[in-house]
Amino acid sequence: PPLITARGLEKAYGRTEALRGASVSLGAGEILAVTGASGSGKSTLLHCLAGIVTPDSGSVEYAGTRIDGLSEARRTELRRTDFGILFQFGQLIPELSALDNVALPLLLAGARRTAAHEQASDWLGKFGVYGQARLRPGEMSGGQAQRVSLARALVTGPKVVFADEPTGALDSLTGEQVMTTLVQSARESGSAVVLITHDAQVSAYADREVVLRDGVVRADEPWAAEHFST
Ligand code: ADP
Ligand code: ADP
Repeated sequence: PPLITARGLEKAYGRTEALRGASVSLGAGEILAVTGASGSGKSTLLHCLAGIVTPDSGSVEYAGTRIDGLSEARRTELRRTDFGILFQFGQLIPELSALDNVALPLLLAGARRTAAHEQASDWLGKFGVYGQARLRPGEMSGGQAQRVSLARALVTGPKVVFADEPTGALDSLTGEQVMTTLVQSARESGSAVVLITHDAQVSAYADREVVLRDGVVRADEPWAAEHFST
């Protein structure tokens, strides 16, 4: 069975209907690209799947359990243990060094300080930003900060990584490097990825693509069948 199954999601902000019956599923280890015009509901869908936003109606099941009705506290706990989240602008904690930012999810999960710092260093090294370990986010380039954010999203070995335009603020070469790193790391660790993007080059990294239009999933095609068959 899929790792995540969302059915008939509806979500309105005042009169704006961001989602109008969107359904989507995600397999374990699958890399899913979510595309569609600005305002089509991509971020809202991702936020519903990740338990950040509660839909007005419809359901979200994760690993066989309904999560849309869980309390805020239990959804926060679930995000901490099972999900990694990566935004367009890393949202690193500005007062903390790169190392402390990456170690934080491990500390919150109960790791000891020394072990957390060792593991955080390993991930910084893996993503080519070990040299920035002691810098604060404001002292790094955008690409470096996004690599640190990526390390923070992956350090706990999440079952699912949710990435909302993770390369949107980067130049195309840096963006491609960050994307390659994300996809390789996810494949190595078996994490599934839900990836919002405007960029066709980015969605080419995905196993499957869903296209949103006006809050509804318009197409849900296996990437290979859609693009590589004749
Ligand atoms: P996308 O990610 O595809 O750009 P969003 O999910 O961000 O789409 O937004 C869908 C629609 O819902 C847009 O019209 C947006 O302005 C609106 N919207 C999203 N979040 C909010 C919010 N917190 N408050 C009010 N309107 C929102
Ligand atoms: P995206 O690049 O994903 O389309 P947006 O710039 O539309 O992102 O939205 C960024 C954040 O602002 C999101 O958390 C979204 O929920 C919120 N948001 C979007 N539109 C509105 C709105 N009209 N009013 C309030 N919040 C909004």
